[in-house]
Amino acid sequence: MPKIKSVYAREILDSRGNPTIETTVWSDNNHGAVASVPSGASTGRLEAYELRDGDPNRFEGMGVLKACANVNQIISKYLIGQDPLKQNDIDQILINIDGTVNKSKLGANAILSASQACFELGAACAELPTFEYTAQKYGLATPSALHLPTPIFNMVNGGKHGAGNLDFQEYHVIPSSRKKFSDALEMGAEIYHLLRKVLEEKKAIHSVGDEGGFAPNLFSNTDAIELLVETIEGSRYKLNEDVYLGMDIAASSFFSNGKYKISDVKDPLTGEKLGDFLVDLNRKYNLLSVEDPFDQDAWIDWENFTTAVGKQLMVVGDDLLVTNRSRLEEAIKRSACNTVLIKPNQIGTITEAVAVIKLARKNDFSIIVSHRSGDTDEDFLADFAVGVGADFVKFGAPGRGERVTKYNRILFIQEYLQSVNPQ
Ligand code: PEP
Ligand code: MG
Repeated sequence: MPKIKSVYAREILDSRGNPTIETTVWSDNNHGAVASVPSGASTGRLEAYELRDGDPNRFEGMGVLKACANVNQIISKYLIGQDPLKQNDIDQILINIDGTVNKSKLGANAILSASQACFELGAACAELPTFEYTAQKYGLATPSALHLPTPIFNMVNGGKHGAGNLDFQEYHVIPSSRKKFSDALEMGAEIYHLLRKVLEEKKAIHSVGDEGGFAPNLFSNTDAIELLVETIEGSRYKLNEDVYLGMDIAASSFFSNGKYKISDVKDPLTGEKLGDFLVDLNRKYNLLSVEDPFDQDAWIDWENFTTAVGKQLMVVGDDLLVTNRSRLEEAIKRSACNTVLIKPNQIGTITEAVAVIKLARKNDFSIIVSHRSGDTDEDFLADFAVGVGADFVKFGAPGRGERVTKYNRILFIQEYLQSVNPQ
């Protein structure tokens, strides 16, 4: 049985230039693994706690030296000597030594960096690619090149991720799930480049936002959707046949005094009226998915919306569910949505993220594995998504290194699977 020999954390930068934590682990049979942790901008109220130093003299308080010290001085003592193949035990140790509901003592960033590094070390010790290790470990279906997650490309960045005036956070182009992953990636990249040209022709700003999508200044959220429709119509792909549209409304980020103010309509909207607005958008554009259509605590609006359109599209819980088992249980009980967004750093350990995925599957939810707006240049999430059999991955635009490294990894996995099992 291999044993963890060393655990070491250090501070690095994420894609926004903010500090984050990277943890390296070694086993006594000389395998090693490195894991870094992303960070959100539009975070859910109930996400596990991200520990920042708060020292105004370093990185405007964003440093993570305390989280690193928690790994180096506390977590390492408990993990050294453990078997890296026993992920449940490792994660239980991490949960126990933290001892809080939201991992606020050691920091979910410290905890996840250790959890994920040990998981990847387990894969290395098992001499398996991480996606295969994931599937085997959790008794999930063996991945096949024909059933890889479908990419959700974030083409336009608004809300807290964009520089412009869009209220909705993300405007997605989603290839049909019938497409091979490599074809889907090609479609995404072509439409992305075409969109830049359309923006240039319109003399609109075509700088990019946090997730690599364009961040134009437009009059309304509907204009952004129209822009995508126009781009797709000018491409060699057919809307609602080859490719679909979706959105992350991230409504909690513009919910104020019980209302939603959006640029499409003059007066702020109640939840009911925002629901009507989105149902209309769906009627017009045949959306494939709508994420966080309402504030994270507006359960009744979620229920009504899912009753109205849940059979036609994915109603995705991100801020609503925060990759948290009890929030998902509540959503199941209330039929408040039908799809879960999985972000491991919202909960803090690999084991807990997998438990949420299993519960979601059991209840016929669709599963989307997602990056964060501040991410790092690692591709672990691609392996994880394939291994757990996610239906979709949301890794941002097909542009910017920290986004494409994840898409490129699935491309590699597709070729690998084709070579071991040609169909
Ligand atoms: C999201 O809201 O789905 C997202 C990826 O953004 P963030 O990481 O800022 O929460
Ligand atoms: Mg979201």
